[in-house]
Amino acid sequence: DQRLSRRVQAVKPSPTLAVTTRAAELKASGKDIIGLGAGEPDFDTPDHIKQAAIQAIHDGQTKYTAVDGTPALKQAIIEKFKRDNGLTYTPTQILVSAGGKHSFFNMALALLNPGDEVVIPAPYWVSYPDMVRIAEGEPVIIETNATQKFKMTAAQLRAALTDKTRLVVLNSPSNPTGMAYSAAELEALGEVLREYPDVLIATDDMYEHILWEKGSYVNILSVCPDLYERTIVMNGVSKAYSMTGWRIGYVGGPEWLIKNMKKIQSQSTSNPCSIAQAAAVAALSGPQDCVQAMVVEFKKRHDYVLQRLNAMPGISALPVDGTFYSFPDMSDAMVVKGYETDIAFAEALLEAGVAMVPGSAFGAPGHMRLSFATSMKNLEAALDRLEAFVSA
Ligand code: PLP
Repeated sequence: DQRLSRRVQAVKPSPTLAVTTRAAELKASGKDIIGLGAGEPDFDTPDHIKQAAIQAIHDGQTKYTAVDGTPALKQAIIEKFKRDNGLTYTPTQILVSAGGKHSFFNMALALLNPGDEVVIPAPYWVSYPDMVRIAEGEPVIIETNATQKFKMTAAQLRAALTDKTRLVVLNSPSNPTGMAYSAAELEALGEVLREYPDVLIATDDMYEHILWEKGSYVNILSVCPDLYERTIVMNGVSKAYSMTGWRIGYVGGPEWLIKNMKKIQSQSTSNPCSIAQAAAVAALSGPQDCVQAMVVEFKKRHDYVLQRLNAMPGISALPVDGTFYSFPDMSDAMVVKGYETDIAFAEALLEAGVAMVPGSAFGAPGHMRLSFATSMKNLEAALDRLEAFVSA
C-alpha cells in the first residue's frame, strides 16, 4: 500500500501471526487448545513487588517522573549491575524504558542510519530484525545450527563484519534456543570485535537469571572488560520477576548513546509508568529467592520436556542452559507427516490441540519453539497430543 511509509512496508508481518490468530479462533469456538507459545513466566508477580506498587499509588507516585527513570530506580539498577555483573555505571549511563523491547527500539533509532548493518545471529528473538528495519538499518543474519548449540563462532562473526557494521547483537541465554555462551566462547567473539573498534555491541541479558547453574552467568563484559566503552548492556524485570505486564526494561552503556536514546524517548513515550518503576525498585533491591524458586520449577519442567521430546519419532531436542524454552528440531517429523513448512506443521498441530511457535519466526525453519512456562499438567497433556500427532 503506497500510502504507507517505506519504513513500515519494510517490516515483515510476523510469521507467527497466522498460528496465533488460528489458535484464538479455535479457542473462541470452544476447542481445547494447550498453549505452549507463551513468552512469559506463568507465575504471578511476587507479592512484595505488588505491595511496593500499591504503596507507590498510596504515596502519590502517580505523576511524570524523570524521562530516564526515577533516581531510586536508577540507583537500584546501578547496584544490580555492580552486584550481578561487576559493572560500574553512573546515573547518566542508565536509561529506563517501557520494557526491554522499548530499550532496543530506542537504541536502534538513536544509532542507525539507512544502510547501517546490524549483525544478528539466528535463531534470534523475533523483534530484533524488524526493529532494525524500522530504524532503516539492515539486519545481517548469521545462521547457526544445533551442532554448534545455536551459538555463532568467532569465524562466523568475522565473516559477517563489514565496514557498514554498526552493531552486533548478543542474547544469552537465548530466546528461542535456551543456550548460553560460555566465557571462552565470549572471549573468542571479543577477540574478533577488538579488531573492529567502530562496531558497537548490544548484550541482551534478559534471561540472565533463568539459568540452571547458579552464579555462572557471564556476558561479554565479564570476559572482555576492555569493550566497556562500546557495549550496551540490556536487561529488564519482565522475565526474572515475572513482570511482563509492568513494562520496565533498562540499559547501561556509554553516556553519548544513552543521552541520545533518552532524547528519542523524551519525544515519544516520556517516562515509563511511575508505579511500575516503584515495583521494579522492589524487584531489583528486595529478596531474590523468588527468582530461584521459579528457576527450580523451570528446570524440572525442562528435564521432563526434553525426555519426552527425544522419545518421539522425528524430533530431537538439545538440553538447554536456561530460559523456559525448548527449540527442538522437528524437520524429520514434518517430512514424514508431509508438511512443507513449519508454519503448515504448526497449523496442523494446532488442530490437534497444541499451540507452538514455528522456528521460521526466529530465522530457523524446521524447528519449533515450545515454552514450558505452563503447568506440568498442561505440559503432560500437550506432549501426549504431540506424541500422538507425530506417531500417527
Ligand atoms: N529480549 C528478549 C531476548 C526477549 O525474549 C524479550 C521478550 O520476549 C525481550 C527482550 C523484551 O522483553 P520486554 O519488552 O517484555 O521487557
